[in-house]
Amino acid sequence: MSSRLKITATAPLGRREFVSLCGAGLLAPAAARAQGGFSSNPDVVIIGAGAAGIAAAHGLREAGIDYAHIESASRVGGRAHTETHSFGIPHDRGAHWVQNQTRNPYFNRAKASPHRFYKAPEVFDIYTADRPATESETEALWSIWDRVEGAIGKAGRRGRDVSPAEVAPLDGDWARTAHFGIGPWEMGKDMDDFSCTDWWNSADSVDCYCAAGYGTLVTDHARGLPVVLDTPATRIRWGGPGVEVETPRGTLRAKAVIITVSTGVLAAEGITFDPPLPEDKQASFHAIRMGDYNHITLRFSEDIFGMGEDGYVLHQVDESDEAFGALTNASGTGLAYCDVGGRFARDLEKAGPAAARDFVLGKLRDMIGSDVDRYLTGSAVTEWSSDPHVRGCYASAVPGGHPMRKVLRAPVADRIFFAGEACHPDLWATVGGADISGTRTAIAVTRAVSG
Ligand SMILES: Cc1cc2nc3c(=O)[nH]c(=O)nc-3n(C[C@H](O)[C@H](O)[C@H](O)COP(=O)(O)OP(=O)(O)OC[C@H]3O[C@@H](n4cnc5c(N)ncnc54)[C@H](O)[C@@H]3O)c2cc1C
Repeated sequence: MSSRLKITATAPLGRREFVSLCGAGLLAPAAARAQGGFSSNPDVVIIGAGAAGIAAAHGLREAGIDYAHIESASRVGGRAHTETHSFGIPHDRGAHWVQNQTRNPYFNRAKASPHRFYKAPEVFDIYTADRPATESETEALWSIWDRVEGAIGKAGRRGRDVSPAEVAPLDGDWARTAHFGIGPWEMGKDMDDFSCTDWWNSADSVDCYCAAGYGTLVTDHARGLPVVLDTPATRIRWGGPGVEVETPRGTLRAKAVIITVSTGVLAAEGITFDPPLPEDKQASFHAIRMGDYNHITLRFSEDIFGMGEDGYVLHQVDESDEAFGALTNASGTGLAYCDVGGRFARDLEKAGPAAARDFVLGKLRDMIGSDVDRYLTGSAVTEWSSDPHVRGCYASAVPGGHPMRKVLRAPVADRIFFAGEACHPDLWATVGGADISGTRTAIAVTRAVSG
């Protein structure tokens, strides 16, 4: 998810897991107590080891709180996931843009890391369906882009909690491209599917890149933390004092729980609450709804776009609204992150990775010709919407749903706490927002369990 568009437009732990975690450097000595079973009554249970859960764990550890940390997947990092098996080089399957540099704690972590870390350049090449756009066509795109953002911003500023589709102009040859860039490409949602007020209440960003991958920064930050992998929370009982967190490996009893799973998982009732949560809390999981966004990543042996490192490519979007936006030659590796969002992303994910790849390749052949096939050396396609650990990309309010953000992040009964990207007031949808939300929640929980 690139936030640059906004800127540009305004110009019981099993032996196997224990051993593998130690090998990966993910378990601190403190985790040894988890071997053969959980610590039966930690003060706090953290559910989820993405950016928010990792930050919460650091916070509790620094405060000296006894906690257990469980994660349903077999890795930490959640939606910040860098892997090397697809291309033999770092490939971000989730977050890639290190956003909001002045407020994002990962900015300073990245600067202090040994990895190459640099400001994202702001270069775009615009194409029609079958050729590079002319200068006047490109100007037409940025002009309508500004008008569309202006209309959404005006509505948002006035607290009109309506969808951008209701207020944004859709005239001229390039309006659909602007709508695609602001909606599916940035928000992971179509323009009728999110709230102007919510959009207005999101921070603008200057972006950076970490050549080793954003996921690498996040897993680096988890190093030494005791996380029990492959252990989903299935039910939380909170009718009596404290909480009981059920997992397939046994039940953890604690004074409080921090839930960092996505609103996609919560809305799909991936965790059952007994007794059920208050109705407005349940409604918030649906109001702050996940979008859909996938990378269809291609690797080329040559810079076929001719833009150097980290250039953006957009093509003119037609009435089918089937579109992608690309970050090309990422960090000079030849990787092109060709990204789809919104309903089209969901449909393409259902059609399968081969269909996704064919869609992008077909468009690129029309835009830039046969070099696409000659220099293509590999591909990888993400499927975040069907990933049961996440169920979407990142969350934003549905039209009329903006007030539910506050409801989402409010604790229940001073013992069920919520953290994660969707809980941050204005850095939502970002790794930095998830991290800050985790840290703030750890402070609140420390107060609650120490009082
Ligand atoms: C394709 C894509 C591109 C993105 N691009 C960017 C970007 O460029 N920049 C940016 O800043 N952000 C980006 N984001 C958003 C960013 O990745 C997220 O906002 C952030 O990583 C969320 O962190 P989190 O801790 O809130 O949630 P998560 O990372 O989802 O962590 C929650 C964890 O809970 C675990 N879990 C789920 N259910 C259970 C259960 N029942 N029991 C135990 N554990 C459970 C999950 O496995 C997961 O590890 C992108 C996301 C996607 C998907």
